[in-house]
Amino acid sequence: MTIPANILQRKDELHNLINKYNYLYYATDNPEVTDSEYDRLFGELSQLEEDYPELLSLDSPTQRVGGQALDKFDQVTHVMPMLSLDNVFDEVEFIAFDKRVKDWLNTDSSQTYIAEPKLDGLAISLRYEKGVLIQAATRGDGSVGEDVTVNVRTISTVPLKLTGEDIPDVLEVRGEIFMPKAGFEALNQKQITEGKKPFVNPRNAAAGSLRQLDSKITANRPLEMYCYGLGEIQGISNMPETHFAAMHMIEKWGCRISPELELVTGVEACLAYIEQVGEKRDGLAYDIDGVVFKVDNLLLQQRLGFVSRAPRWAIAHKFPAQQEMTIVEDIEIQVGRTGALTPVARLKPVFVGGVTVSNATLHNQDEINRKDVRVGDTVIIRRAGDVIPEVVQIVLSKRPDNTQPFIIPSLCPICDSVAERIEGEAVMRCTAGLYCPAQRKEAIKHFASRKAMDIDGLGDKIVEQLVDEDLIDDPADLFRLTIEQLAALERMGNKSAENLVNAIQTAKQTKFARFLYSLGIREVGEATARSLALHFQNLDALMKADETALVEIEDVGPVVAHNIVTFFEQSHNQEVIDRLLAAGVIWPIEQQTSIDSALNGKTIVLTGTLEELSRSEAKEKLLALGAKVAGSVSKNTDYVVAGRDAGSKLTKAEKLGVTVVDEATLIEWIH
Ligand code: NAD
Repeated sequence: MTIPANILQRKDELHNLINKYNYLYYATDNPEVTDSEYDRLFGELSQLEEDYPELLSLDSPTQRVGGQALDKFDQVTHVMPMLSLDNVFDEVEFIAFDKRVKDWLNTDSSQTYIAEPKLDGLAISLRYEKGVLIQAATRGDGSVGEDVTVNVRTISTVPLKLTGEDIPDVLEVRGEIFMPKAGFEALNQKQITEGKKPFVNPRNAAAGSLRQLDSKITANRPLEMYCYGLGEIQGISNMPETHFAAMHMIEKWGCRISPELELVTGVEACLAYIEQVGEKRDGLAYDIDGVVFKVDNLLLQQRLGFVSRAPRWAIAHKFPAQQEMTIVEDIEIQVGRTGALTPVARLKPVFVGGVTVSNATLHNQDEINRKDVRVGDTVIIRRAGDVIPEVVQIVLSKRPDNTQPFIIPSLCPICDSVAERIEGEAVMRCTAGLYCPAQRKEAIKHFASRKAMDIDGLGDKIVEQLVDEDLIDDPADLFRLTIEQLAALERMGNKSAENLVNAIQTAKQTKFARFLYSLGIREVGEATARSLALHFQNLDALMKADETALVEIEDVGPVVAHNIVTFFEQSHNQEVIDRLLAAGVIWPIEQQTSIDSALNGKTIVLTGTLEELSRSEAKEKLLALGAKVAGSVSKNTDYVVAGRDAGSKLTKAEKLGVTVVDEATLIEWIH
């Protein structure tokens, strides 16, 4: 069959692109495109080669492991090659893989696989002779890797010496070196502070940290390792028959294996495992990009063998990508409750991290300058878990001509008032306060929100309509709204209007702490509002307090004290408060019982998933008992409450010797 010219041309383009991206990813640890974009190109080339088998050549990227050993390291020839893995992206493809395995083995029986998360780091081979680590090598091109022994020795989870019985003369252990998420965030913060380029993701940070000529740098990077396979073995007395048994054998000798490792039999169990790990993904302390399944029986693995770059007995089921490429169609400025002007990139919608994303925050001018994000740029965005999507970096090679650097305007885009950057702050703020409609809207949204006055049914859209139609100017106006006024709003029926008026009336009965929080005083969050309420007991006393009196309260520093005093000094704030009270907003005298509670004054950190209580509920109850709920563990922490899949905070607590309790104990405390 003659191959059409356009297909030949596309094949050449794909070879060039994939080779270029391989180089940037493996050799420089500085990829220019996302993994999902790479996987799409790789998939397109594989499909072309399937449609036109004559296209397939030995030098095709589909036939080789993509890396390459760099000359700056000594080279290590692998006795047994270190291969890649074939990928599947959905159930149908996974079922097809399972069928290929059965067809090859000529059986209809359900297969048993060893399953574990696919760690997003880099592969390493550790060579132990007589139980002593004598060499550590990267995968390189699969045959020849780089000698990184000195660097690997600095990683505390890699045993320098195996312990236990029956250790073979030669043992090659293979696994993944990775950087946990928390360590990655901290490293990137440090890179930015030192004016260095941050890493795009934990994988590249791990690879970049390990492949250093100076092992002191590696030693300072938070790297870890899980082992998942074996290479060459000599002089073993009792070779296990299964991969699972082999992994537990090396675990006994001191090698760390994944705690998520499981045996699964049959397709249904495999699919359930994928779902189970998918649900855990965000809560794990490290990045994973899928799940790996390997035929468990080692003899069957041998029978199945390899094809070019990957074993036939294993497959990686990839998860939806958390990084994607898209285009910045516009940059708009959002005005927040405190007047902060936040630049937001309006993106060409893109599916990432399981949802369609069309906006990403650009934080402030410093961030925009550092990343040099411009309208028209192709950008890599990241969305992991519930984290707000953010622009990781731009793809400079795809920048169109005539783009302009973006500068946040010095006038508020909503009310045209002057915007200022206060010294020491990263953000620009509109100076108009509640005269700015955007700030008014945000202040009212905050007032009505769940943790503030908790007005059921008063969503953001309704607040915006009410302000736009001049029906309300401040939170106190809410209490004057009539059913007729609300019913006249777009998409609001009589019944909903009646419900909303009732909800507003119900919300009048509140708590002092909630009321204080709802006022939206800068930097007065829930915890501070709670401390203030407990301390002052009544509003008059708080409004009369000066900065000296305020800083004596736990949680209140000079800046917060200043914000509180300034807030209450402003006549329009006083007037709104008077009108709120006149409208009937009321709260019971703050109870002092908590002062006597055993948790009074204790600092508690919640981590992991709680099963019985929601985070907010647990927090509120603890605050009511006089405890402080902090976001991070330090030596000042009294207790850490660890729920399911607790990660780095738990590890830190254990390291610092902080008392760790479970959810059941928390519930006991509360009762
Ligand atoms: P891979 O990462 O898809 O799979 C193989 C690797 O998985 C192994 O080498 C090992 O390091 C790792 N792994 C993690 N957990 C494992 C486990 N439990 N058992 C076995 N192996 C495990 O393949 P690859 O060949 O290393 O790289 C190809 C992938 O790398 C692409 O699919 C793409 O995602 C990415 N890539 C991206 C770019 C880019 O420019 N963004 C360029 C090249 C490659």
